[in-house]
Formats: sequence, C-alpha cells, structure tokens
Amino acid sequence: MSPPTAADACARYLRQLGDRVRLIARPYDSRPEVDVALDAFATAAAGFLTSGQEQLQQVGLSHRFHFGLVDGALGRKAASEHDAYAVGDIFAEPGEAAASFLLFTQPFARDIFVAWDAMLSRRELFRNVGNPDDESEMSSLTSSRPRDPARARYAVDQALLTLHFALLHEFYHVANGHLDAIGGKQEGVRLHAVTASDEQLGAGANLYKVLELDADAMAIRHLTIALLEGETLVPHGLFGAASDKDRFRHLGRSVTLLFRLVELWRRHVRLDYTEKELHPHPDVRDATLRAYLRLNADPEDRRSEELAQGYEEGQDDIIEALEVMVSVRRTRLDEVGGGQAFEEVGRQRCGSNSVMRLAGSVGSRSSTSLR
Ligand SMILES: [Zn+2]
Repeated sequence: MSPPTAADACARYLRQLGDRVRLIARPYDSRPEVDVALDAFATAAAGFLTSGQEQLQQVGLSHRFHFGLVDGALGRKAASEHDAYAVGDIFAEPGEAAASFLLFTQPFARDIFVAWDAMLSRRELFRNVGNPDDESEMSSLTSSRPRDPARARYAVDQALLTLHFALLHEFYHVANGHLDAIGGKQEGVRLHAVTASDEQLGAGANLYKVLELDADAMAIRHLTIALLEGETLVPHGLFGAASDKDRFRHLGRSVTLLFRLVELWRRHVRLDYTEKELHPHPDVRDATLRAYLRLNADPEDRRSEELAQGYEEGQDDIIEALEVMVSVRRTRLDEVGGGQAFEEVGRQRCGSNSVMRLAGSVGSRSSTSLR
C-alpha cells in the first residue's frame, strides 16, 4: 500500500480525534455567505505555495504539509469558532514521513474578508481608495460588500494579503521547529492562534510569546522578499502598480488588522485560559515588526527605514479607522439605549457589523504609546 498523502494523513488525524471536526471539502451551495471564504482560502493557499518557492526550498523541510479549512474548533477546553492551528501528526505509522497540518476554522478565514468589506463599505474610512462617497455612512449598522468596484477589489486584495500572512505565520511555527520547542520529541503537538493548547499552556508564557513573535518576523521576512522581488501577491494588481513604500503600507494595514482580529476573537472566548495570557498583545506584535523592518527590510539598498515608515503608516491607518468606529459606536450605543440592545442587533445581523464589534473591542490608540 502506498503511504498516505499529507491530506490523507490530515483526514486520519481528524478521524482519530473522534470525527468531531471535519475538513470542509465540498462547496457550500446552500450557504452562499461562505462561498467567498472557501474560494478565497483556496486562492490564498495556492498563492502561498507558488510564491516564494525559493524561500520555501531554503527552509529545507522534511515535513509534508496540508492546508485545510475545518468546520469546527479543535480541542475541547479552549474552543473558539475562530482559530488557526499548526499541528504535528500524532497518528503516523512507523516509517511514514512526518506530516504537519495547517488548519483554519472557516469563521477565521471568512471574517477576515467580512472585516475588510465592512471597513471599505464605510464612506468615512480609507477616503483615498476608489470612490468612497458611493458607500454607506458609518452610522448605518448594516454593511455589505463595498458598492464601488475599486473599493470592493481593494477589500479582497487586502483580505487575501491578511490571510496570506496568517498562513505564513502558522507555516513558520512548523518550519522553525516551534512544535518541537514546546513539545520536546512528543508527537501530536498543536499550536492554537487564538486559544491555547495543552502544550502551549505547559510551555510557559514567556517562551510562548517569543515563538509567536518569531513566527511573525519570519512571515514578514517572507513577504518582504516577495514584495521586493516584484511578486504578484494578490489578484487585482493593486500592489504591483504601487511604489515599494506604498506596498509596505498596504502590508502594514493587512497585518495590523489581523492582530486586532485575533485579539477580538480571543476576548470573545469565555475561558479560564485567559488568566494566563499566552499570546503577545497586538501592540507588541506591531512594534516588533516595525523594529524588524527598520533593520531588515532592505539593508543593501539602505531603504529599510523608508520601507518601515510605509509599513508604520499602514499600521496607523488601521488604528485610526478603528478609532473612528469606536466613536461612532459610542454614539450608537446612546441612541439604542445601551450595550445590550446593541449586542442584540449585532447577533441578529450575523457578521455584517463585525466592523462594529471590532471597533468596540480593540479600537484603541494605545499602540502609539509604545513609540
Ligand atoms: Zn502563532
């Protein structure tokens, strides 16, 4: 019998967990709201595998990888519907080449797109992209796809770049040996992006934070090389036409939004693990990547400072957008008579106003206090 593919090994792993979680392999025809995430995840994963081939080869992996979307959270204790995982295969047969799985829950992948759509469908935000006056006012609670085609394309490109960074981050957890670092030689180690696995809890908060920042730095290094080599990272040519500095600004927007989303999702999980905070604060992750780029973005051409400056402007764009949303949310809260009513509306609209939840949970200016 031929050895299983990495995809087969991944399916076996999920079966052994008790079939609670399945890989999403079929199109969700009856649920059009998730189609974008399934298509887009495939696009981002394919982009990941074709971009930076040389860099990926340099990693010199003996691993086989499978990227997948799963329909539920892995792990019982710290379940969140939004999560991403780097997983070592615990069920490999003797002599079988090691496999690792990079798994994303469907809401994790989908809501990256929802968040970008929600921001670009507000006329007050990103005024320099397309024709913002075609969009709704911030005070309207509903958001959808941006009406202006240029803004809709921009939202997709930014979301794909955000997802691309998230894929790279999980990838480098495996490629840099983080599964070994927290699990010794024990197999079946799992890292969670939003919640915490047993191995993460056992590793100690300080070690774990370093691993997180290491995966961030490796992911940004990968994208820096790809950007400076002129690779097309997203389908609409948005970044290809821009200056290098502006491309780093777009990148800064993507990555900073991801850090805010992860923080939002973490705060929405009601779990005991929060008493021991394992993941670095998003401001720390932002500051670490700024520092990394200032030294390493393009030292040969002495452009590191300039490119890091572009990246930082992108970070500021997101923080400022969140600030605008926070102020509007407060006004709305007064109008609808308190937080409970607001939360109720939020649940009914199911994701359409995640931009408001994002603003309420993580829109703060505190990142500037680190500078
Ligand atoms: Zn991580």
